[in-house]
Amino acid sequence: MLHSNQVKVPVRELIEKVPADLVKSGVIGQEEKKLVGQALGRLLKIGMGQIRDLRILRKSVDARKKQDLQMIYQVEFRAGKEEALLRRYPGILKKCQPVRKEMLSGRQSVFRASMDEGCFVRGKASTISETASGEGGERPSPLVVGFGPAGMFAALALARAGLAPHVVERGQRVEERRQTVDAFWETGVLNPESNVQFGEGGAGTFSDGKLNTMVKDKTGRNRKVLETFVEFGAPGEILYLQKPHIGTDLLGDVVRNIRQEILRLGGRFSFETKLADLEVEGEQLVSAVLERGGRTWAEPCRQMILATGHSARDTFYQLHCRGIQMEPKPFAVGVRVEHPQAMIGRSQYGDYYEALPAADYKLTYQASGGRGVYSFCMCPGGYVVNASSEEGRLAVNGMSFHDRAGENANSAIIATVTPEDFGESGVLGGIAFQRKYEELAFRQAGGKIPVQLLGDFIRNRKSDAFGEVLPAMKGGFALGHVREILPPEVGDASAEGMVAFGRKISGYDRKDAILSGIESRTSSPVRILRNESLQGNIRGLYPCGEGAGYAGGLTSAAMDGIRVAEMVIESRHR
Ligand SMILES: Cc1cc2nc3c(=O)[nH]c(=O)nc-3n(C[C@H](O)[C@H](O)[C@H](O)COP(=O)(O)OP(=O)(O)OC[C@H]3O[C@@H](n4cnc5c(N)ncnc54)[C@H](O)[C@@H]3O)c2cc1C
Repeated sequence: MLHSNQVKVPVRELIEKVPADLVKSGVIGQEEKKLVGQALGRLLKIGMGQIRDLRILRKSVDARKKQDLQMIYQVEFRAGKEEALLRRYPGILKKCQPVRKEMLSGRQSVFRASMDEGCFVRGKASTISETASGEGGERPSPLVVGFGPAGMFAALALARAGLAPHVVERGQRVEERRQTVDAFWETGVLNPESNVQFGEGGAGTFSDGKLNTMVKDKTGRNRKVLETFVEFGAPGEILYLQKPHIGTDLLGDVVRNIRQEILRLGGRFSFETKLADLEVEGEQLVSAVLERGGRTWAEPCRQMILATGHSARDTFYQLHCRGIQMEPKPFAVGVRVEHPQAMIGRSQYGDYYEALPAADYKLTYQASGGRGVYSFCMCPGGYVVNASSEEGRLAVNGMSFHDRAGENANSAIIATVTPEDFGESGVLGGIAFQRKYEELAFRQAGGKIPVQLLGDFIRNRKSDAFGEVLPAMKGGFALGHVREILPPEVGDASAEGMVAFGRKISGYDRKDAILSGIESRTSSPVRILRNESLQGNIRGLYPCGEGAGYAGGLTSAAMDGIRVAEMVIESRHR
C-alpha cells in the first residue's frame, strides 16, 4: 500500500467536471475520485488500470496562486510494482504505515451547596441518596460531570467499556436547551444554568463545530473523535476535509444520539443537576454533592471525571475552596469582527470563490507594543452570538450552520493576557479579569451586544450608524464604543492588527466592518493540576477537558475525554 500527499487537481477542472453542489460542499463523489485517480496516474506516469483501492484521506485547497487554485489530496492506494515506484519517486511516495490497533476496544463530611462566589458553608449532611450505581456498593459507577465534548467522549468510552457512567449536567437536554437559548436571544432573559455555555453538548453546541486541532494525532484519538462524530450522525466528509466542521444545526442531533447510546449501554443522566461540592476522606474522593432545584444530596462516588468547561466559574471557586490544586493560566480577549463573506471569498479564492466552500482565514500580527494579535475561531458564513452565562455580564462568540451560507464571515481578533495583566492576584485572578470586562460589555448597551464600526474603533469614537456591512447576530445589539470595553492595551493592539490584516486580505480594514465584544471565553483562565495517572490532588478526581486546562477546542476536549476515560478504565483492571 502506498501513500502520497502530492496529488493535485486544478480547481478549474474540478468545477468543470464535478456537480456544483458537491464542489460547493466539499463532498467527494465518484467524479472527483476519478479526477484524483487520473491526477495520480499522471504524477506517477502509470495507467489508471494500475491503481487499485484508491482512498482519499485528506483534501485541502492550495490558494497561494489565485489564478491557479489547486485541490491537494492525500491518498492511499495499491499499485503494481510498488517497490519500483517507491524507488523512482522517493519524494512523492512512501509506504503506508500499518494501521494502528484501535485504542478504545470494548476491553475494553458533607458540605451544603450555595453556588455563589464564596466557599460553601459547612452544613448538615443530607441523607438523600439518588444513587443507582451500575456496579453497586464498593465500586460505584464513575461520575462524569459535564456533558460537553470532554464529558461526552469520556462517558461514551466508559459506557462502551461496561462501566455504566452517571452523567451529571447542570444545563438542560439539548432539545430544551435550544429553545431556552433561542428565547434568550429573542428576549435577553438569561437562564444562568442553561445557555450557550451550559447544557447538554457543552459550549460548542451553538458553534461552527470546527473540528481541526493543533494537537498531533500520535495516539489515534483525533481520528477516533471524528469517526465517532460520523457514527452518531455527523457528515462523512469530516473524515477527509483538512478543516472539518459540523455546524450547529447538525451538532444537536449528534449530541442526542450519543446520549441515547450511553443510555442503551446502561449509563444514566441527571440533567439540570449541578456538582456543588466534593466529599473527601483522607485523600480519597468519596461523594459528590449534587444540587437540583434547590435540593442537595451526596452521591457516593470514588471516581469522578470533572469536565465542567471554561465557564464554570462557580465550580472553580468551590473546588479552590475545597483545596483542589490549580494555577492561573493565560488566555486571550478581544472582539469579534464581521465582514461580508463574499469579500473574504474573493480575496482568498479569486474568481472561484462562489463555486467553492465558504473561505476562511487565519491571521497573526505582532503589534508595536509587543503583544501578538491573532484571528481565532473563524466562522465562515456565520453569526455572532450572545454567549453570556452570568447575569449582568456579556460575552460574544461565533457560530455557523452546516452550509455556512450566512452573509457575513466572523472571527475573534484577540490578544493573549497573562496573570500579570489580571490586576487581581491569586489563582482565580483570570476569572475576576474576565468578569470585569464582561460587566463593562453588559452595561454599555444595557445587556445587548455592543457593536462599533472598525473605522470608529480605530479613531476611538462611538459609532452612530452602520455602513454597508450589517450585523449577522443572534441576540439583540446596539451601536456603541467597543474599544471602551477592552483592556486598553488589547484595544490598541487589535486596532493596529486589523489595519495590518488589510494588507493580507483585501478589504479587511474597511471602515464599516463590524466589531462586537467582548470575546472573553477563548480558553480556561485556570489549570487544575493532575498527576501522571491524570488525577488531581484528591484520589479519584480526574480533571478533564478545556476547563481543567488540557484542551483548546471541541476536538482536543473530546480527545482528552477519551484519554481520561482510558485511565479510569485501566484503573478498574488493576
Ligand atoms: C459559541 C461557541 C462557539 C465555539 N466554536 C468552536 C468551534 O467551532 N470549534 C472548536 O473547536 N471550539 C469551539 N468552541 C469552544 C468549544 O466549545 C470548547 O473548546 C469545548 O466545548 C470544550 O469542551 P469541554 O467538554 O471541555 O467543556 P464544555 O463544552 O464547556 O462543557 C462543560 C459542560 O459542563 C457543564 N457544567 C459546568 N459546571 C458544571 C457543574 N458544576 N455541574 C454539572 N455540570 C457542569 C456545562 O453545562 C457544560 O455542558 C466554541 C465555544 C463557543 C461558546
